[in-house]
Formats: sequence, structure tokens, C-alpha cells
Amino acid sequence: MKFPRKFILVFISILFIVSLTGCAKKQEKDLFTKIKERGKIIAGVRYDARPFGFVNEDQQVRGFDIDLCREIAYRILGNRDAIEFQQVTSSNRIFSITSGAVDFTAATMTITPKRAQIIDFSNPYYIAGQAVMVPKDSEINDISDLAGKRIIVSLGSTSEMNIRQMFPDAEILGFRTYTDAFSALRAGRGDAMTTDDTIIYGFILENPEFIMLKERFTQEPYGLGFKKGRETFVLRETIDMILEDLARDGTLTRLKEKWMPDLDNSNNV
Ligand code: GLU
Repeated sequence: MKFPRKFILVFISILFIVSLTGCAKKQEKDLFTKIKERGKIIAGVRYDARPFGFVNEDQQVRGFDIDLCREIAYRILGNRDAIEFQQVTSSNRIFSITSGAVDFTAATMTITPKRAQIIDFSNPYYIAGQAVMVPKDSEINDISDLAGKRIIVSLGSTSEMNIRQMFPDAEILGFRTYTDAFSALRAGRGDAMTTDDTIIYGFILENPEFIMLKERFTQEPYGLGFKKGRETFVLRETIDMILEDLARDGTLTRLKEKWMPDLDNSNNV
């Protein structure tokens, strides 16, 4: 049977396109190899959450998460500077992962079952706890005083979800960054702000006219976030091994001491 020439041409074109997509898929499969070839890591980090990720007076991004990323770059690429940082916030960090804009995030992100349906997490590298910050002269003395109050949060954070559940009658004011959230608190637009004790600690260091209430009412295990699937498998496994090493050789404890020397987490649940 003789096929018309036009048919054969179309058939060959389809094969070509299919093989091209096949190649593209193959290349995309392994992010670890891609990073090795590229010679640098692209990490999504916070610019608004001292002491985990913030921009210093010298316009450099610094913090616990930044140091952690540099350790990872050193152990994968042999160079602490082989890393590019991209800013993420509480509400856009998952999209930055799923869209492939970053290789992973190191961004004060709590590992939760709900988030784990969309992205993959490393093992935890730090455990924070949700807390509340108020002005020193506030009448709010413990968490129960928050009922009916104006509470400031960062949109998309676990703190936002938890506080909405705990105080359905409170007025919740959400902001895109912690910088904006704290400015609102300072301007008196809210009575309290709630987030992880780590981030509150960072604000209080610079703003001693605010205090952190004693109670911690959640556990917030921080994990690095990755795109789901085979493509990130080798990278995730490698980073989990690196994290294990960093825990074993005392690096994670040193980072806690470097960035949060006086943070007492004995209240953590
Ligand atoms: N760790 C919490 C979270 O993942 C609160 C801090 C943050 O906004 O990153 O939502």
C-alpha cells in the first residue's frame, strides 16, 4: 500500500515533535544535574523575615536561611557563593516552587500536610512556634485576650490560618510582607501581630518597644520546599543528607546561636 507523500510528511513531523518533547522532558528530569551544569543554585528566600532572611544595610540578603543555602551550595558545588537568591513571601513561595522559578525555597516555611499535597519538603531543619507580639503597654497579656481584637498577619502563613480558627470573631488584617505587617502594627492599625517566635524575635531586637507574649501555641517545623516529582528526587535526597550532616556536626546549632542567641524556645510546644 502506498501512502500519499503529504501523509508521510505529517507523520515524520509528528515523530520529530514527539521526540523533541521527549528530549525536553528527559533534560528536565533531574534538577540536581541541571544545577551542576548551571554551576549555581537558585533559591527562594525571604527578604522580610529577620533573622531567617532579610536585607542588611549593605543591601545584601542575610540570615539563617541564607547561611543554610550557602552551606548547601558549598556541599553541592564546592562554593558558598554559587547561589542566586530570589525574594519570596508567605503567599507566593509555593508558586515560585511549582512554576520552577526557584530550585527550592528556604523561607521559614512550615511543613504541613496541606502544603505537602502541592510541594515536597526536606526534613525539618528548625522548629519554631507561633507566638504573639504586642506593644509594651498593651492590655493583651496572654493569648486569650486576643478575642475580638485586631490581629495582624502575613497572608498565606500558617499563623493566619491558625489565628482565624482560634478567634473567628477577631478582625484579621493581612499583609503581603512582614515588613508591611510590622509597619501596620507600629502605626496602631492592629492590636497585635502573630507569627513564628523566630520572626517576632527579629522585630523585637530592633524595636524594643514591643514584646513577645510567653505562650507558643503551635509547632512550626521549617522545611525546604521543592517541586513534587522525579525531577527533584536526587536534589531532595542529597539535601536531606546534607541537613543530617549539618545537624550532626553542630552547624544547625551554631546557626541558631549566631542568629537567635537569646531566643528562648523552652516555651515551644
Ligand atoms: N512558618 C509559618 C509559615 O510557614 C509562618 C511564618 C511565615 O509566614 O513564613 O507559614
